[in-house]
Amino acid sequence: MTALMWFRRDLRVSDNRALYQATAAGGGVVAVALITPLQWQKQNESPAKLSFWLACLQELAGRLAELGIKLHVEEVPDNADIPEFMQQFARARKCDALYFNREYEYYEQQRDETVKRVMQAQKIRTFDFADRLLIEPGRLLTGSGGYYTVFTPFKKSWLGLLSRADLEPLPLPAPVAAALPTPELPVAEISSRLGLPGWPSDLWPAGETAAQKRLAEFAGGALDTYHELRDLPAVDGTSRLSPWLACGAISPRQCLVVVIRDNKKMPAAGSGGEAWLNELVWRDFYTHVVVGFPRVSCSQPFQKKTAGLQWRYDECDLKAWQSGLTGYPIVDAAMRQLKQTGWMHNRLRMVAAMFLSKHLLIDWRLGEKYFMQNLLDGDLAANNGGWQWSASTGTDAVPYFRIFNPFTQSQRFDADGGFIRRYCPELEPVSAVALHDPKKLAAEIAKKKISYPAPVVDHKLARERALAAFKNL
Ligand SMILES: Cc1cc2nc3c(=O)[nH]c(=O)nc-3n(C[C@H](O)[C@H](O)[C@H](O)COP(=O)(O)OP(=O)(O)OC[C@H]3O[C@@H](n4cnc5c(N)ncnc54)[C@H](O)[C@@H]3O)c2cc1C
Repeated sequence: MTALMWFRRDLRVSDNRALYQATAAGGGVVAVALITPLQWQKQNESPAKLSFWLACLQELAGRLAELGIKLHVEEVPDNADIPEFMQQFARARKCDALYFNREYEYYEQQRDETVKRVMQAQKIRTFDFADRLLIEPGRLLTGSGGYYTVFTPFKKSWLGLLSRADLEPLPLPAPVAAALPTPELPVAEISSRLGLPGWPSDLWPAGETAAQKRLAEFAGGALDTYHELRDLPAVDGTSRLSPWLACGAISPRQCLVVVIRDNKKMPAAGSGGEAWLNELVWRDFYTHVVVGFPRVSCSQPFQKKTAGLQWRYDECDLKAWQSGLTGYPIVDAAMRQLKQTGWMHNRLRMVAAMFLSKHLLIDWRLGEKYFMQNLLDGDLAANNGGWQWSASTGTDAVPYFRIFNPFTQSQRFDADGGFIRRYCPELEPVSAVALHDPKKLAAEIAKKKISYPAPVVDHKLARERALAAFKNL
């Protein structure tokens, strides 16, 4: 009896529900992870993220070897090729059962249904598990049996449903055989063949050990002040766990236990723990939305009437936004942070996304795609949710008339300009006051002969243009 464990976005040994059950089944275990270059291209996966994931696989291979499990990394170009590959792979290794953790996006669900059918036709049993979220989609429905579209009632029901089973991370799986030598995966060869550039490994070291270390540091430090500092991009006030959560190097249950400790005691109202828990609930919420409304996985707006919105297409404006050269310092610093580190602070994701979709009136899907192509934590549900929120096309989105003024945002959240200057060093000589005031900024730039672009669009005119476009719907 041999179980085949298929790793996807759950690149860890600890608290991995499918792996735990595969090892508990009593036989041998073989593990596989797939490299799918064409699929990755179709999904706009960021090359830096893929480098990070490959390095996570290397660490995973070592952890699995300690349990007597060999990890195979195999290349299969496209999702469509996976079912046939999986059944051949399983048969060649005499596996009689396939274990995996569920994924919830539309195309991933279709892929998994086909894999299950093909395997079952070969008399290979399949076992899939709810692992990725704290509460699985389908368990939380409104009174009329639909998926929630508003966050606050979703959270209320979520808290009501949370059970001990959702809270407890699993113990480490027991070894299934004697430890194996750590395999050297062809990570360098794959990276160079696919032209993957690497990622900032000093900020996000690969693997579950590093993720656990980061969680422990956060739990013992910034968590307490999270509610006060989480909106300040110059401060290390958030967990920065998102790249590890996105590839599953850490589980949401492992995160949850740092805020809901003994006896399911909720964090105190108004505490850092409560605010952080809220973000973990948002993570569940957007994935539930993806399951309940599959059109959002297929580039459709959640609010159907916004499908008719007349977006502008302006290549120069789009390029200025992507390159961090819009003339709005906070937007430019944000976009350069993304380019340089593969990550962007949450407050700035909202500012940058709203700037593209409202100030430039450029289709949010172009921004969503660009984020996916650059983020280390790119995740369809969270990214789509964030973009549709900012563009006022989504569930529980910001009302279309609430358009952030980037200068006011930077005044509030980067008052001394420390973050702006870190990513826009040419603005070093500019006073903090001028960084948050377009007229003073223009005057100082001219006086100090600084090479920095004039605003690509005037805030007031841009706001009026966006309001008119939404009113025309
Ligand atoms: C336009 C836009 C695009 C985004 N794209 C992504 C994305 O591709 N991947 C991604 O993980 N998050 C995305 N987010 C959500 C959020 O910005 C990041 O999760 C957060 O900045 C990650 O930093 P952190 O780990 O320090 O988060 P923390 O503040 O420490 O939060 C802890 C965890 O909760 C989850 N989380 C936090 N905020 C949100 C949120 N609003 N929605 C869903 N989950 C959340 C993340 O997994 C995060 O790691 C996006 C937000 C916006 C506005």
